[in-house]
Amino acid sequence: MPEPTTSRPRVNVRRPDVMELVSAEVAIHYRSSLVEKIKDMGGKMTRGNTTLLLAKDFGFCYGVERAIDLAYASRKVFPDNRIFLIGEIIHNPEVNRQLREMDIVSLPWKEIDATYDDLTPEDVVIVPAFGAPTKFMAKIEERGCYTVDTTCGDVMKVWRRVRGYAKEGITSIIHGKADHEETRATASRALGENIDGHYLVILTLADTDYVCNFIRQGGDKAAFLERFKGCHEDGFDPNLHLRKIGVANQTTMLKGETLEIQNRLAAAILDRDGSAENFYAFDTICGATQERQDALFEMLKTKMDMLLVVGGYNSSNTAHLVEIGEKELPTFFIRDAAQIKSLEEIVHYDLHAKEERTVNYANVFTGKEHVIIGLTAGASCPNNLIEATVRKVFGLRGEILE
Ligand code: SF4
Repeated sequence: MPEPTTSRPRVNVRRPDVMELVSAEVAIHYRSSLVEKIKDMGGKMTRGNTTLLLAKDFGFCYGVERAIDLAYASRKVFPDNRIFLIGEIIHNPEVNRQLREMDIVSLPWKEIDATYDDLTPEDVVIVPAFGAPTKFMAKIEERGCYTVDTTCGDVMKVWRRVRGYAKEGITSIIHGKADHEETRATASRALGENIDGHYLVILTLADTDYVCNFIRQGGDKAAFLERFKGCHEDGFDPNLHLRKIGVANQTTMLKGETLEIQNRLAAAILDRDGSAENFYAFDTICGATQERQDALFEMLKTKMDMLLVVGGYNSSNTAHLVEIGEKELPTFFIRDAAQIKSLEEIVHYDLHAKEERTVNYANVFTGKEHVIIGLTAGASCPNNLIEATVRKVFGLRGEILE
C-alpha cells in the first residue's frame, strides 16, 4: 500500500442536487405519516379503550438528521469509492443497518487498528455525530482519505470549552460515560502538543463525592487512580490536577444531575480555597436532549399506566428518558415494536441489570377499563420505529389503525 503524503480537504457533500435525492430517500426510510398525524392531533390518539400519548418532543434531533443526511449524501457523491464510518453514525440499530445496506463499513472506534493502515486516498471516511478523538482524525488525515465530518455542532461547543480550559491550565471534569464515543472525543480535546491539559471523567454522584473528598482533604493517589482507571489521561495526578477545575458534560446527560455535580464540586473548592475562583462550569447539555427531557416531564403530569421509550440500548439520551420515566410509572425501554411480544409480555432493556429482560406487564392494566400509554423516543430513533410501536400497541388492544 503506497504511503499517502498529502491530506485531502474536507468534502462538502451537501450539494443541492444531492440533497434533493437524499431527502427523498431518508423520508422513505424513516418518516411516518401516522406519527405526523398524532402530532397534529396534539400528541394524543384514542381508539376504543386505549389512549396513546406522544411526548411533545421526541425522536430524531437536528444533529442526527444532519449526520444521516451527510452519510446518505456521501454514497451519492462517491458511488464507487469504499466508504467507511468510525463506529456507528448514531446509536440506533435500524439506521446503522440501513448504512450497512449502502455498503458503508464501520471501522473500530475504541482503538485504531491495522484496518486504518489499509485506508487509501480514494477511500471516504465518515466521522459520526458524536465526533472522534483527535488521534483518529489525525490518522485519517495521514492516510489522505476524503473526510465527511458529521460531528454535531453542539458536541463541538463542548470541545471548544474543554480546549479553552486546557489552554488556561484548568483540568476538565467531564460529566459523562468514559467509554461513550462523544466523551472520548471530548476528552481528547483537553490534550494537545502545545497545551498542558488534563481531564477526569465522572459519571455518578458517588464519583463526585469521592473527587470532592480528595479536593477537601487529599487522599491516596493510587486508590484514586485505580477507582478512575480509564477516566483520565496518562500522567493524571489528583494531587496536582485538581487545583483548578472546570466542568463540562456529555451533551446527553440529565440536567438535574449535572447541576448537582457542579454544585458539589464548587462547594469542595470553596471549602479548600475559601473562594470559588478555581472553579468553572458551563452547562453543555444540548438543546435537543433538554427538550426531550422537558417534554417527558410535561407528559408525566398526566396520569398514565405505562411508558414506552423507544431507542437504541447504547443511546445515552434515551437511557436518561427511561431513568426519568421509571421514577414515576412502569417504564419499558424497547429497541423496536417487536419487543412487545403480547398483551402480557414485553422484552425490554433493564438499565440497572444492563441486559434485556422479559417481563409480564399484564398487571399494569389489571382492573382498568381504559388504559393510557405514554410513548417517547430518544434523539436517535426514527419515526418509522415509533409508528410501528403505535400500531403494535393498538393492534394488541384490538384496534387496527388504518
Ligand atoms: S443529541 Fe444533541 S449533541 Fe447529540 S446529535 Fe442530537 S443535537 Fe447533537
